Amino acid sequence: MSNNDYLVDGHVHFFTEDDLNAVSAELPYDRPEPNPLSVYLQDLEAKGRLPTLINNVHLSVLPNSENIFSSFKELADLKKKFPGKFDKVRLVGTIKADPVYANEERLSHPQVVGVRIVLHDAPEESIASDAYSTPAWQTLYGRLAAHQHVHVYAQAAATNHRVLRQIPDDVRVVIDHLGTCHANLNADDGAFTKLLEEAHRRGNVWFKGPGYRTSTDIQETVPFVVRIIKALGAEKLLLQATDAPHVGADQSARAYRDLFHPSSAFDFVQQLASAASQHCGVPADELLNGAASAVFPNMQTNRTQVTK
Ligand SMILES: [Zn+2]
Repeated sequence: MSNNDYLVDGHVHFFTEDDLNAVSAELPYDRPEPNPLSVYLQDLEAKGRLPTLINNVHLSVLPNSENIFSSFKELADLKKKFPGKFDKVRLVGTIKADPVYANEERLSHPQVVGVRIVLHDAPEESIASDAYSTPAWQTLYGRLAAHQHVHVYAQAAATNHRVLRQIPDDVRVVIDHLGTCHANLNADDGAFTKLLEEAHRRGNVWFKGPGYRTSTDIQETVPFVVRIIKALGAEKLLLQATDAPHVGADQSARAYRDLFHPSSAFDFVQQLASAASQHCGVPADELLNGAASAVFPNMQTNRTQVTK
């Protein structure tokens, strides 16, 4: 049973037509459709599934994260327009990890929880050994408050590992998409093992869902979830996320947007958590969002304590 009073979208992208107008003309793929926060919230509210904590994550096609700051205002306006309706919703943001853009002023916004490095399918060897440890990056890490984190997205576990090793040990890190989008390599792959070992050594690395970018086949994704739990403990896993608006395609070239909308993405993670729970004995709710208060420690998460 899922706890509907506490629903976390740990990874979603909100951007409006205005935000997209800032995108340069030469995109490597089709310009995405806008995904405004208001539409997302009203759709989910109509389905009786209103998230209580939402993380608007930097979208790589946008030149900066101004869309995140405007979404903070959009929620504030929505709360005024519909008194009471969205009172439970709290919104945070993970802005572009850029030593120039992520300056002190932007990082000091109370709703900014971290910065995001986006590497897509970059191979391990394309990342210089000091790409994320130059003086400019060290300055950026030094600007992060104790509650903020560096969010790393690379499809290959080996690339995530290479970046993780360059981030100072005292900086909290969140690794996207369970650490790998390559389910074909299996959960006992050496690079995934190294990534888990480094995360364990540091003790301040969390792995995040929703899991369908590892594989849309729940049975294929479960072994990755189980390995994370065995290596790091369930408290280092935050599965609950939609990654709306579901851009891209799965291993069989099926568009994610044909497979998911935000509500069904929550169903997917619920099923994934239930399946993984059977393997590790940790309650599905814990796997879904038990880590939220650690990943977003400055947010009052209001989570009902699960008695064990
Ligand atoms: Zn995403």
